[in-house]
Amino acid sequence: MRVGFGYDVHRLVEDRKLMLGGVEIPFEKGLLGHSDADVLLHAISDAVLGAIAEGDIGKHFPDTDSRWKGANSLVLLKYVIDLAKQKGFEVNNIDSTIVCQRPKLAGFIPQMVENIANAVHIPKVRVNVKATTTEGLGFTGTGEGISAYAVVTVREW
Ligand code: MG
Repeated sequence: MRVGFGYDVHRLVEDRKLMLGGVEIPFEKGLLGHSDADVLLHAISDAVLGAIAEGDIGKHFPDTDSRWKGANSLVLLKYVIDLAKQKGFEVNNIDSTIVCQRPKLAGFIPQMVENIANAVHIPKVRVNVKATTTEGLGFTGTGEGISAYAVVTVREW
Protein backbone atom coordinates (compact mmCIF):
# COMPACT_ATOMS: atom_id res chain seq x y z
CA MET A 1 0.00 0.00 0.00
CA ARG A 2 1.20 3.50 -0.79
CA VAL A 3 -0.18 6.96 0.05
CA GLY A 4 -0.19 10.08 -2.14
CA PHE A 5 -1.09 13.66 -1.34
CA GLY A 6 -2.26 16.43 -3.66
CA TYR A 7 -2.96 20.14 -3.33
CA ASP A 8 -4.06 22.69 -5.90
CA VAL A 9 -5.31 26.28 -6.14
CA HIS A 10 -6.97 28.19 -8.96
CA ARG A 11 -8.06 31.81 -9.18
CA LEU A 12 -11.78 32.66 -9.52
CA VAL A 13 -12.46 35.01 -12.43
CA GLU A 14 -15.38 36.21 -14.54
CA ASP A 15 -16.29 34.63 -17.89
CA ARG A 16 -15.17 31.12 -16.98
CA LYS A 17 -17.23 28.03 -16.18
CA LEU A 18 -16.89 26.69 -12.64
CA MET A 19 -15.94 23.02 -12.93
CA LEU A 20 -15.47 20.98 -9.74
CA GLY A 21 -15.23 17.21 -9.73
CA GLY A 22 -16.34 17.19 -13.37
CA VAL A 23 -19.58 19.01 -12.49
CA GLU A 24 -20.43 22.41 -13.95
CA ILE A 25 -21.56 24.47 -10.95
CA PRO A 26 -23.83 27.46 -11.63
CA PHE A 27 -21.96 30.55 -10.33
CA GLU A 28 -21.05 34.04 -11.52
CA LYS A 29 -17.35 33.16 -11.75
CA GLY A 30 -15.19 30.21 -12.73
CA LEU A 31 -11.66 28.97 -12.21
CA LEU A 32 -8.87 30.27 -14.42
CA GLY A 33 -6.40 27.81 -15.92
CA HIS A 34 -4.99 26.25 -19.06
CA SER A 35 -7.34 23.26 -18.81
CA ASP A 36 -10.86 23.52 -17.38
CA ALA A 37 -9.06 24.34 -14.07
CA ASP A 38 -10.97 21.71 -12.08
CA VAL A 39 -9.04 22.19 -8.86
CA LEU A 40 -10.49 19.08 -7.18
CA LEU A 41 -9.58 16.74 -10.03
CA HIS A 42 -6.10 18.30 -10.18
CA ALA A 43 -5.52 17.66 -6.48
CA ILE A 44 -6.71 14.05 -6.86
CA SER A 45 -4.57 13.52 -9.98
CA ASP A 46 -1.53 14.91 -8.14
CA ALA A 47 -2.24 12.60 -5.20
CA VAL A 48 -2.29 9.57 -7.53
CA LEU A 49 0.96 10.70 -9.16
CA GLY A 50 2.43 11.16 -5.68
CA ALA A 51 1.48 7.65 -4.63
CA ILE A 52 3.16 6.12 -7.70
CA ALA A 53 6.19 8.48 -7.57
CA GLU A 54 5.52 10.05 -10.98
CA GLY A 55 6.04 13.72 -10.20
CA ASP A 56 3.10 16.07 -10.66
CA ILE A 57 0.50 17.11 -13.22
CA GLY A 58 2.66 20.04 -14.35
CA LYS A 59 5.17 17.46 -15.61
CA HIS A 60 2.60 15.32 -17.41
CA PHE A 61 0.32 18.11 -18.70
CA PRO A 62 2.46 21.24 -19.24
CA ASP A 63 0.73 24.63 -19.83
CA THR A 64 2.76 24.92 -23.02
CA ASP A 65 1.12 21.84 -24.57
CA SER A 66 -1.91 22.89 -26.64
CA ARG A 67 -3.37 19.37 -26.30
CA TRP A 68 -4.45 20.25 -22.76
CA LYS A 69 -5.88 23.72 -23.52
CA GLY A 70 -9.45 23.74 -22.23
CA ALA A 71 -9.12 20.02 -21.46
CA ASN A 72 -11.75 18.27 -19.37
CA SER A 73 -9.80 17.33 -16.25
CA LEU A 74 -11.60 13.97 -16.08
CA VAL A 75 -9.49 13.11 -19.15
CA LEU A 76 -6.35 14.11 -17.22
CA LEU A 77 -7.42 11.98 -14.25
CA LYS A 78 -8.09 8.99 -16.52
CA TYR A 79 -4.61 9.42 -18.06
CA VAL A 80 -3.05 9.35 -14.59
CA ILE A 81 -5.07 6.25 -13.64
CA ASP A 82 -3.89 4.51 -16.84
CA LEU A 83 -0.30 5.42 -15.95
CA ALA A 84 -0.76 3.97 -12.46
CA LYS A 85 -2.18 0.78 -13.97
CA GLN A 86 0.79 0.50 -16.37
CA LYS A 87 3.10 0.75 -13.36
CA GLY A 88 1.18 -2.01 -11.59
CA PHE A 89 -0.92 0.07 -9.18
CA GLU A 90 -4.65 0.43 -8.62
CA VAL A 91 -6.38 3.03 -6.48
CA ASN A 92 -7.75 1.78 -3.17
CA ASN A 93 -9.55 4.90 -1.94
CA ILE A 94 -9.67 8.68 -2.31
CA ASP A 95 -10.45 11.35 0.26
CA SER A 96 -10.58 15.02 -0.64
CA THR A 97 -11.59 18.46 0.58
CA ILE A 98 -12.59 21.48 -1.50
CA VAL A 99 -11.94 24.80 0.25
CA CYS A 100 -14.53 27.25 -1.09
CA GLN A 101 -16.43 30.11 0.51
CA ARG A 102 -19.09 30.39 -2.21
CA PRO A 103 -21.05 28.82 -3.83
CA LYS A 104 -22.42 26.13 -1.54
CA LEU A 105 -21.32 22.78 -2.94
CA ALA A 106 -23.13 20.16 -0.83
CA GLY A 107 -25.82 19.47 -3.45
CA PHE A 108 -23.24 18.76 -6.15
CA ILE A 109 -21.02 16.37 -4.20
CA PRO A 110 -22.89 13.13 -5.08
CA GLN A 111 -22.37 13.82 -8.82
CA MET A 112 -18.67 14.66 -8.20
CA VAL A 113 -18.24 11.33 -6.36
CA GLU A 114 -19.90 9.50 -9.24
CA ASN A 115 -17.70 11.21 -11.85
CA ILE A 116 -14.52 10.45 -9.90
CA ALA A 117 -15.48 6.83 -9.20
CA ASN A 118 -16.22 6.30 -12.92
CA ALA A 119 -12.92 7.88 -14.03
CA VAL A 120 -10.90 5.87 -11.51
CA HIS A 121 -12.85 2.61 -12.00
CA ILE A 122 -13.58 2.11 -8.31
CA PRO A 123 -16.90 1.89 -6.43
CA LYS A 124 -18.39 5.13 -5.10
CA VAL A 125 -18.01 3.87 -1.52
CA ARG A 126 -14.22 4.29 -1.96
CA VAL A 127 -14.48 7.97 -2.93
CA ASN A 128 -15.10 10.84 -0.51
CA VAL A 129 -15.45 14.54 -1.29
CA LYS A 130 -15.84 17.14 1.43
CA ALA A 131 -16.31 20.89 1.19
CA THR A 132 -15.44 23.54 3.73
CA THR A 133 -15.27 27.31 3.93
CA THR A 134 -12.46 29.13 5.71
CA GLU A 135 -14.90 31.31 7.70
CA GLY A 136 -14.14 34.23 5.38
CA LEU A 137 -10.40 34.08 6.04
CA GLY A 138 -7.62 34.09 3.45
CA PHE A 139 -7.82 33.97 -0.35
CA THR A 140 -10.50 31.30 -0.35
CA GLY A 141 -12.52 33.21 2.23
CA THR A 142 -12.52 36.40 0.16
CA GLY A 143 -13.51 34.47 -2.96
CA GLU A 144 -10.23 35.13 -4.82
CA GLY A 145 -9.79 31.43 -5.44
CA ILE A 146 -10.68 27.86 -4.58
CA SER A 147 -8.26 25.23 -3.32
CA ALA A 148 -8.47 21.48 -2.88
CA TYR A 149 -6.62 18.76 -0.99
CA ALA A 150 -6.64 15.05 -1.72
CA VAL A 151 -5.20 11.89 -0.22
CA VAL A 152 -5.15 8.68 -2.22
CA THR A 153 -4.05 5.17 -1.32
CA VAL A 154 -2.98 2.76 -4.02
CA ARG A 155 -2.00 -0.90 -3.89
CA GLU A 156 0.20 -3.00 -6.11
CA TRP A 157 -1.71 -5.63 -8.02
MG1 MG B 1 -4.44 22.99 -11.29
